[in-house]
Amino acid sequence: MSGASSASGRRASRPDRLTPAQRSHNMSRIRAADTGPELLLRRALHRAGLRYRLHDRSLPGTPDVVLRGSRAVIFVHGCFWHSHDCPYGVRPASNADFWAAKLARNVERDAEQLAALAADEWRVTVVWECALKGRARRPIDEAADTIVKWLSGSSQTLAIAGAWPSATDGPLGDLRR
Ligand SMILES: [Zn+2]
Repeated sequence: MSGASSASGRRASRPDRLTPAQRSHNMSRIRAADTGPELLLRRALHRAGLRYRLHDRSLPGTPDVVLRGSRAVIFVHGCFWHSHDCPYGVRPASNADFWAAKLARNVERDAEQLAALAADEWRVTVVWECALKGRARRPIDEAADTIVKWLSGSSQTLAIAGAWPSATDGPLGDLRR
């Protein structure tokens, strides 16, 4: 266990190959990469028998997980940076105009990337971070099983959100909700 975690720690701290401009542009993505929730999900997917590539920059949005054989990608979206309609997606009250503009651009970019992937016949899952950590998190293997079932089905998209009491949908909800 300690060996495994120190190995992944070294991997995570190794400098990436992004230029400063790319790093800035992809800030929300980089912030989410190789952090606890995404690692947990990746390990659960691996336990479920899936094999995948990570952070493929050749695809729109640099998907966190790429299942080439299934022509499917998985994004782990931070609720704040991607404006999830959940308690973690609430925008700050101060500098409201700045945040509204910045986060609206993120949402717009997400939509463009999703459209580009769909146009190229990629199937897309969005796993909201609130499904993986915090008080509404789901059992990690349940999230992985939901993805495995989706892969064998025919839906083009899948969203997995936290189990919020007020949510109008379950793990099969709209991508933005
Ligand atoms: Zn959320």
